[in-house]
Amino acid sequence: MGQYTLPDLPYDYSALEKAMSAEILELHHSKHHAAYVAGANTTLEQLAEAREKENFGGLVGLQKTLGFHLSGHVLHSLFWENLSPDGGDRPDGALGDAITEHFGSFEAFKKQLTAATVGVQGSGWGILSWEPLGQRLIVEQVYDHHGNVGQGTTPLLAFDAWEHAYYLQYRNVRPDYVTRLWDIVNWTDVTTRFTTATGA
Ligand code: MN
Repeated sequence: MGQYTLPDLPYDYSALEKAMSAEILELHHSKHHAAYVAGANTTLEQLAEAREKENFGGLVGLQKTLGFHLSGHVLHSLFWENLSPDGGDRPDGALGDAITEHFGSFEAFKKQLTAATVGVQGSGWGILSWEPLGQRLIVEQVYDHHGNVGQGTTPLLAFDAWEHAYYLQYRNVRPDYVTRLWDIVNWTDVTTRFTTATGA
């Protein structure tokens, strides 16, 4: 009776083949994402047990593990929704205007998010986020699933830079994978998230 469950994908495993093979997508969703869901649930159970026994000796490790698995679950749930076989191009309307306002141009934003994703050292993500205190869009380069994150930011568009996301297909050439990702971005989904986050 876990708190979290693996969401179904909004498309078939073969739907994103112009950027990622069905083999990668199936492993990524059914194995990797599923492991974060299970990890988050297991860690919550261990925390409940620690409270019950009033034994907090292992708390530091459990909190770290919770942050890792829960953030992995959150980001993968976002990632699947951010992608679509009918995606690509660029956003218009309020999101397009905000990108121009905060990054100078769509091209400048695209270059920064690409560089942030390609340049992750080890495993992580490149993310377009809404930062509510400054009321602005920012790019975050996230380590693992939760490092380097500004507290309170809302991720709108996440690019998975972990090797499990591309290595079977692109081997060591992460830049080619990131280039293809832009062709399947679901801007309708990103725009909905932007509207919600900004309260517009
Ligand atoms: Mn992943």
